[in-house]
Amino acid sequence: MKKYTHAWLAMMAMKRIEKARIPARQQDDAKALITWFKNYRDFVLSGAWYPDAVFKDMTPSHIVKYEPDASSTAVPNFRIMPPTLQMYQLGLESDMYGKPFKLDKRHNLCDRCESFTESLIDSFKILTMENEGSPIVPSNNHIAMRFFILSHYIADGHMPLHCDARSFYNDNEVHGFIEDLWDQEVRRSYFIDEDNERFFYDPEGYPLKQEEFSELMQYIEDELVNREFVWSWGSGCNNTWDYMSGISQYSYLMAYRLIPADKTPREITKAYYMSTEAFREHFFEYSKVILGDAVESIAKIWLHAWVRYRDWFRGTELAYFKAQKDKAEKNLIDAEKVIDTYSEEKAKLDARLEKAAKSLEAKQADYDKGLAKGLKMEKRTEELAKARARYAEAQENLSNLDKAYQEADASLENLKALLLAAQIQVDRKAAEIKRYEDSNSGI
Ligand SMILES: [Zn+2]
Repeated sequence: MKKYTHAWLAMMAMKRIEKARIPARQQDDAKALITWFKNYRDFVLSGAWYPDAVFKDMTPSHIVKYEPDASSTAVPNFRIMPPTLQMYQLGLESDMYGKPFKLDKRHNLCDRCESFTESLIDSFKILTMENEGSPIVPSNNHIAMRFFILSHYIADGHMPLHCDARSFYNDNEVHGFIEDLWDQEVRRSYFIDEDNERFFYDPEGYPLKQEEFSELMQYIEDELVNREFVWSWGSGCNNTWDYMSGISQYSYLMAYRLIPADKTPREITKAYYMSTEAFREHFFEYSKVILGDAVESIAKIWLHAWVRYRDWFRGTELAYFKAQKDKAEKNLIDAEKVIDTYSEEKAKLDARLEKAAKSLEAKQADYDKGLAKGLKMEKRTEELAKARARYAEAQENLSNLDKAYQEADASLENLKALLLAAQIQVDRKAAEIKRYEDSNSGI
């Protein structure tokens, strides 16, 4: 796909997250994502085009190539996708559905999408944990840029010719021709600020429509609002990788609708393609399916990544509040223990003090006696010093106990109030998180 198509698909995905009826469990998060996104949308054009302009990792990362395998009898594992995907629905009706295929293992579009998704979540976690100004903290601009880069790879997976081992590049120009048609539709339907490499925006912050608005663009604009937003990845799909792997399978089946295999790729020139029924009768319909599903998938993968980050954030917050509560509880228990055992401890320390006093008295007497008789004083001096130290220590222990008792007694009510406040905070957070629990979310 071309530059403006990529940027437009990313903007439409953002619009879908805002305008579609998002399942209740993800509604708050979707709102928060849009609020965040709108601050960084200006990078959409450069971000969504970065893979083609800078990374240039077309082979292996913008493609997953399939071809029919007539020699195999193996039953291929076609994935079960969310029913709202139109390319999936068309794929189920395809003659090639369920037939063996060969998959070129050198290509890694699905891995690219998966790793970008994970790195987005990681970046948000780092952004949360690091102090402001930390040299390793990623900026929001940088993360937004990576959202748009990710959208490029997702969109490419929906371009059927990126998933078809037949090559329609160069000699026959059909690949570029199809992508040009879509790009022209975008360019003639929206106002583009070419100097600043961004769209002009409407009051809601989305690409501003030209008066002469294309029918295809209108279809997608309507579809992104009206299509049911299915949260699940599809049965047996658990993550971006599984989902994109399914997308690439149905994209491959779609390629044989878009360009039937009645001639070899070399024979299918642009002129010939334009004369085919597939182009004349169905190109508009197929474009709706491909672009509509691309918007759907970008929105889905973005929101899943964001919700996973937000779930982690909520969990981290709850763990922090629980630790605060545990600390408050321990402080209260310690204070209560000081109060409860005070009499018992005091009796013990009183006895020790009394014993130390007696010992000191005895040592003092021994010392005085030695001094009077002119005996050797070295040992007596040492023992007297030890007895004094023991006495001082016993006195100090007793006074510490008294101090601890008075403090505990004075702060007991305060500690109880602190524990109650910490408990309320934990309960409130836990109740808030409960709203986000959804066994059917399929994250
Ligand atoms: Zn690409």
